[in-house]
Amino acid sequence: MPTLTKTKTKSPALKGSPGRSGPGAAPKLQQFIGGRWVDGSGDRELVSTNPADTREVVATFKSANQADAVKAIDAAAASAPGWRDTPAPQRGRVIARAVEIARRRLPELARLMTREQGKILPEAVGELEKGINLLEWNSGEGYRFMGETAPSDLPRNLLYTVRQPLGVVSVITPWNFPWAIPCWKIAPALVAGNAVVFKPASNVPAFSVEICRIWEEAGVPPGVLNLVLGSGSSVGNLLVEDPRIRAVSFTGSNSIGKGVHTIAGRRGIKATCEMGGKNPCAIWEDADLGLALGGVLRGAFGSTGQRCTATSRLLIHDRVYDKFMDMLVAETKKIRVGPGLDPKSTMGPAVDQGQFDTDLEYIEIAKKEGARLVLGGRRLESGDLKHGFFVEPTIFDQVKPSMRIWQEEVFGPVLAVARFKTFDEMMKLANDCPFGLTSAIYTQELTVSMRFVEAMEAGMVHVNSPTIGGEPAVPFGGAKGSGVGDREMAKEGVRFFSESKTVFLDYTGQTRSSNIY
Ligand code: NAP
Repeated sequence: MPTLTKTKTKSPALKGSPGRSGPGAAPKLQQFIGGRWVDGSGDRELVSTNPADTREVVATFKSANQADAVKAIDAAAASAPGWRDTPAPQRGRVIARAVEIARRRLPELARLMTREQGKILPEAVGELEKGINLLEWNSGEGYRFMGETAPSDLPRNLLYTVRQPLGVVSVITPWNFPWAIPCWKIAPALVAGNAVVFKPASNVPAFSVEICRIWEEAGVPPGVLNLVLGSGSSVGNLLVEDPRIRAVSFTGSNSIGKGVHTIAGRRGIKATCEMGGKNPCAIWEDADLGLALGGVLRGAFGSTGQRCTATSRLLIHDRVYDKFMDMLVAETKKIRVGPGLDPKSTMGPAVDQGQFDTDLEYIEIAKKEGARLVLGGRRLESGDLKHGFFVEPTIFDQVKPSMRIWQEEVFGPVLAVARFKTFDEMMKLANDCPFGLTSAIYTQELTVSMRFVEAMEAGMVHVNSPTIGGEPAVPFGGAKGSGVGDREMAKEGVRFFSESKTVFLDYTGQTRSSNIY
């Protein structure tokens, strides 16, 4: 099935593009390489604008080119041995300091995130808090970076494992969680003793610079964390292909993620690629409909639907279908779309022109394929909204699994609804999709919920809670087309960024081994 290509039209934008605060007034961002802030060497001058009002320039910067990426890898390679020899609890303490700095700066960081990424301020605060929790969890891993001992077949032999860092790793992240995702990758990489080259999405450069400032203030030694602000198409491959890169942790779209995984596979290095989602939420006939309604609204339209874990497919039992749809439509109408800094707004804009176009394009595709437009479907452009990327929260019903709106990730506030009568029908609908990130069911019945947990082809399952969210202490990631490689967060995150070494120690030096292997 064809997929749409998303273009990130926030960059490149021309120097001197019209703005309330022109490029001269907006901060000029730099790369962070070897502990120094330096201009990118690329020939493009880029601007980051506010998706709620593109007249506002958030920052400008000169893009990195391949030579900058090589310098970042050089710096990481030079600093890796020193960081590797830093005791793991001390590495953990650097993360603990980052926690304190992020907490102190939270209000200002939240505003910047809203201005650059578009999500409403409470969502930005929530993301910052979640990222801080992830840092907290990883800071403690400094004391838990341990191996195991095992009973040996041989007398007076000590058999044990230690965990060791990999060396230089790259971290490639998307724009939708510009803080939490870098937190859940960079923190485990650092606590495990690796040096990191961090390449965030091109449309959140200002926030990514603040992330590196936090780490710099926390005391990460020069070169241990490096920031490359360059487009994926120019520097991305190099961050996977360079022979010094030992692992790559990627989150983003399927098309790019599969490419990253292919290159990593060819090189025989570790790669974890967390990719798109098309997450189903099922409403069983006995569901607490009020509870389910809150969950569906947050799942489908929270963060403007720009979550990998967003609820994008809704499956409703025939017996409660009409009632639940009436409730859903009535509440969705109350969503107030507007700039994220306006306290009255409950849903922000699409992140950029490319995502905005994709949302509207999928709406047209769904209509053409015969889905029924129940609500929304249009751009909002009254008054100042015309300067931003605002799309109405949109609901389609009578959606068939054969339709693209059921099969492909939109990554916007567009919900596809289908009806079922039996458990088997529900599971067929839920699993009839190439993605398998997360899922949810609302029911009071233990048997139904447990059967759903068993049969659902997804990396995560929620019972009586929305498809969204993750917790630092448990793995996060997807099955099927949603993820390849190790899960992230929790123990899995640190394990990915480290390797085990097995030690056979004959402490008398006298054992005559009869081991034939
Ligand atoms: P994307 O276009 O795939 O970009 C992700 C990152 O990859 C960006 O930093 C991008 O840089 C970079 N990149 C682009 N081309 C590359 C290449 N050839 N080699 C290496 N890196 C390259 O994704 P996005 O639009 O930023 O993010 C949205 C997607 O992320 C959605 O599909 C969403 O579901 C997924 N996501 C998944 C999870 C999860 O945990 N499963 C979580 C969040 C988001 P540029 O920005 O410079 O292009």
